[in-house]
Formats: sequence, structure tokens, C-alpha cells
Amino acid sequence: MGGLQDLFAGKNARIGSTRKQNSSAGSSQSVINIGNREIPLTIRRHPRSRSISLRIDTAKRGISVTMPHWVAKREALAFIASRSEWIEQRLAALGPNKVLANHDMVSFCGNDYQISWSKEHLRTPDLRGDMLLVGGEEALIAGRIERWLKAKARSIFADDLAEYCERAGESKIPRIGLSNARRRWGSCSQSGWVRVQWRLIMAPANVRRAVIAHEVAHLRHMDHSQRFYDWMDTIYEGDRAAADAWLKAHGNSLYGVQFSAG
Ligand SMILES: [Zn+2]
Repeated sequence: MGGLQDLFAGKNARIGSTRKQNSSAGSSQSVINIGNREIPLTIRRHPRSRSISLRIDTAKRGISVTMPHWVAKREALAFIASRSEWIEQRLAALGPNKVLANHDMVSFCGNDYQISWSKEHLRTPDLRGDMLLVGGEEALIAGRIERWLKAKARSIFADDLAEYCERAGESKIPRIGLSNARRRWGSCSQSGWVRVQWRLIMAPANVRRAVIAHEVAHLRHMDHSQRFYDWMDTIYEGDRAAADAWLKAHGNSLYGVQFSAG
């Protein structure tokens, strides 16, 4: 049967977890559908918490829930659902997202660069020290930077993919595609495609590479068995848990960067 694999998302990840749910402690990030929109959701379990509390996370334009250890996640989800109207109103009141503009910071391969626009600069963005130079019409720089990041993603992901395929002894390199999926970082299909969420080009290299190594490991093991993870650890040079932890802590922020209005 079908060969689509979710990355870091459990089979039961109905609300699109970016990692496996850890129900005993700590916090988990995911998304939840409210009013036909995917809203970032952070759930924290707190030892001193006595009831479920809900607040709007203005930075992420999402919601944050704190609850006691003994409350089941489905109870939290029911609680959120009961307040969906209030959540929608509060999020709408935040106004439109701010589109990337001159002097804003943008991440590329985990490093932060300040956007420096000038009519004198070339239209195609160019990294210079800790600046990202961009020219052309100022109103269009966000879209120009988005296209530049996607082009970089395409070539850097392809290089990573070729490197891991060589390490894995895969003679046939899958084609690489950029995805804009919110619920998974990467996927691979038996028809010979690997698709990777393009926003990972903003993440640190070890994180992006973990996602690509994960998909390459699926070429041998189309499951999330121990054999699969052993094989991934064989071809991936980094610390899989560290990459996973980064995505858990910061993955949602990659979606917060706005390249266009609306
Ligand atoms: Zn997988």
C-alpha cells in the first residue's frame, strides 16, 4: 500500500503533531483546525496546574494551553473546541500578519540576516556578512526573498539528498520536491519522490539534514521501526534527538514568517 510517511508524527496525530505526543510531561507543539484554519497549538503540562487554561499566543498567532498532568489530551481538545468562537475572534483582532520588510531579520540555514533594501542593490537577494541585500521595488521584497529561499532550498535539499543516497548505497536518487505541508516536514513516496517543507531552509543545517536523512532512510524501511531508526542513525551524522528537539521548540516559528499578506 501507499508509501507516504509522516515525519516525527505519530500515526494517531490527528491534530498534526510535529513530533510524537509526549503525554507525561513537558510541552508539545502541533496545529489544530479552528474555523477551517490551522492554528498553532502549544500544550504544556504543569505539575502545579489544577485546571485547563487557555491563552492566545500572539507571537505565534496560535493558542497555548496549560493543564495538569492527569488531564487527557482529548479533554483539552474538547475544551479548545468549546471556546473556538472566542479564539477566532481574538486571533482576528490581532489583524493581518506582518509581511517581511526592510530591516526585518530573516533566517537562512539557521543564521539570522537583516534585510537591507536599496534601489542600488541587485534585485536578486545576496548574502553579505550578516545582511541580506535586496534591490528592486521595495514593496516586492518579501516575494523576492521567498523565491530566493525556495531556489536555495531546491538546490541545497538536492545536494543533501544526493549525499545521503550515496551514504545509504541507494543507486537511484529520488526526485526532490518542495512542499508547503503544514503537518509534516518531509515525505517520500515509492514512486520516487522526496518532498521536503521548503521553510526548513531557514532552520539550522543539522535539523534540515535530519529531515532529509529520515526520508532517505525510508527508501530502505518504509516504517518507523527500530530497524528504520538504526538505519537513519547510520547515515545521519548528527544527533537525531537534538534535531527533533529543535523542531519541537522552534518548528512552528518557521511558519510565522510571512512572505505575503493575508
Ligand atoms: Zn518517517
